[in-house]
Amino acid sequence: MSDIVKLLPDHLANQIAAGEVIQRPASAVKELIENAVDAGATSIQLVLKDAGKELIQVIDNGKGMSATDARMSFERHATSKITKIEDLFQIRTKGFRGEALASIAAVAQVTLKTKQKEETLGTLIEIESSNVIKQEPIAHQEGTSIAVRNLFYNVPARRHFLKSNTTELKHILDEFIRIALAHPDIAFKFSHNGVEQYNLPVGNLKQRILALLGSNMDKHLIPVDEDTEVLQIKGYIGKPQAATRTRGNQFFFINNRFIKSSYLNHAVSTAFEGLIAKETYPIYILFLEIDPARVDVNVHPTKQEVKFDDERIVYAYLQSAIKFALNKFNVAPSIDFTLDPDIQHLEALRVPLSTQKQEELSKGYLYQKFTQSGQAHFIDRSDERQQWKQQMNTFFPELPQQGLERLPEMPRYDEQPAQLKLMADAAEDSWDKGSEHQAFIQWNGFIVTTLKSGVLLIHLKRALERIIYERLSERLALNKPVTQQLLFPIEVSFNPADALLLSEVLSDLFALGFDIKPGAELHSFQVLGVPSDIPGGQEQQILEAVIDQLKHESGMLDETGRKAILRTMAKRMAVPQTMPKEQLQSLVGELFACTQAQYTPDGQLVFRVLDKDALFDLL
Ligand code: ADP
Ligand code: MG
Repeated sequence: MSDIVKLLPDHLANQIAAGEVIQRPASAVKELIENAVDAGATSIQLVLKDAGKELIQVIDNGKGMSATDARMSFERHATSKITKIEDLFQIRTKGFRGEALASIAAVAQVTLKTKQKEETLGTLIEIESSNVIKQEPIAHQEGTSIAVRNLFYNVPARRHFLKSNTTELKHILDEFIRIALAHPDIAFKFSHNGVEQYNLPVGNLKQRILALLGSNMDKHLIPVDEDTEVLQIKGYIGKPQAATRTRGNQFFFINNRFIKSSYLNHAVSTAFEGLIAKETYPIYILFLEIDPARVDVNVHPTKQEVKFDDERIVYAYLQSAIKFALNKFNVAPSIDFTLDPDIQHLEALRVPLSTQKQEELSKGYLYQKFTQSGQAHFIDRSDERQQWKQQMNTFFPELPQQGLERLPEMPRYDEQPAQLKLMADAAEDSWDKGSEHQAFIQWNGFIVTTLKSGVLLIHLKRALERIIYERLSERLALNKPVTQQLLFPIEVSFNPADALLLSEVLSDLFALGFDIKPGAELHSFQVLGVPSDIPGGQEQQILEAVIDQLKHESGMLDETGRKAILRTMAKRMAVPQTMPKEQLQSLVGELFACTQAQYTPDGQLVFRVLDKDALFDLL
């Protein structure tokens, strides 16, 4: 029998090892910028093409490398940062494993140019798939420039699995923001496809936060500054009213290294308890300084977790530091921030209906149906209904036997049981006979109406969500955006990261009905048109919600991403108003014309039929 165990060829071993350190363009960006920081640079420039897929270049003015070091730096486990095991417990640099450059060089085409201060000539090295193609002396300014081209060009499977540019760019932005936050004493520049995205001068932490996360944060930041024997905590938290619905702006740094810690997050969140609404997240940018000997950073290089000597002490100190800061700035818990945001809709309910709004509503499905039912293009669903009726006889008889409190549990919407369809259809059937005696009442966010078979209870806001969602999806499917051009274009500005994300998806937003162009100022946009049923004055909020959603999606180019955006838009666009009976009727008509009337796009029940017999049982 022949032996079959072989050593992997070097290039293959390299590529596999590289995969652990470099998963995507963002990991290369992180490693390269960290090297520049470690090299003592005071100015770092990041240049990207195609979200880093084509080019990632990092240019620094740090200490540079000698010709020998430049060549050595691409060897695996080549580092200048530790020499003995004890060093590991006093680590102050970002890197120390000596794996990053070797990994990057294994899976890309790399050009390194570097020069030390005291030298007259620098070094150029070109390396592809770990093979040195060229090495020669060159003239270069002090510092290092590394260009990484066509990441994973030699590992097609990996390259293939890179996500859309929007997604990859978002990951890069996350890394960039984390490093730039931790180093306000270093100037950063960042350009993508030739367009400058950030130009961050040296400044203090607060200036850096505002430049990165948006200057509108200015009035919301509360400083935290505590010094204890065990640890030092400094940084900023956002005032309770600045808490957001997404986790975007939460940062912990330990010894200036970004980390993720649900444990520490819990400490901060509980300090905010009672001050912010449920399901909102406080803003924090916090720097913890701990003796490196008490923190284990020797976890996997790409992991962002840490281990402490004694976690509970850190937790307790952190929590009280936050409480103290909140107190000092008189953020008293007397204001009820826990108010259900849905309350706002109640206010909207009290707002009288404008004639313009009435006109818009009269364009609704039912209104049209009533006025056009004699016309040729009236959509007749009687065939479908006939089928459903037959099924109804099989399913419906069970329902009346149940008591009110035992009405069937509503299954999840994705199951789409025939029975529910039938209930909807039964409801539709009896109401659109349009009996004059049929009651239509708008009551506390509900529409209450009577059917032959019972009482129909419709959640108004949810009904609107469903209707708007279907309208939007239909337009998207037909690729027929319905845009309402604005008489006066609105200038909206975003924080730089969001602006960058937005610029990547303008064409997708166009398909949804937004007509947006880059604005005059950096990070600003001109909104020329919006989907036709966005309530006036809400353009910016809805755009912001869309962007928030984008951040959670792995890019918007795919179907799921778009659907999620539509759901978000529908949620925001569904603002209940007080309506006269005809409009309530028209709304119910439009609801039952939906393909899935029972549930909102995210699965909440829209209506229930309280069965007549069940109601009798009740009394
Ligand atoms: P590590 O950072 O873990 O030491 P890397 O592979 O990232 O490993 O880098 C290897 C070595 O190359 C570093 O230890 C450092 O000496 C040198 N190096 C890398 N990038 C730079 C840079 N931008 N400026 C100066 N030296 C650098
Ligand atoms: Mg490194």
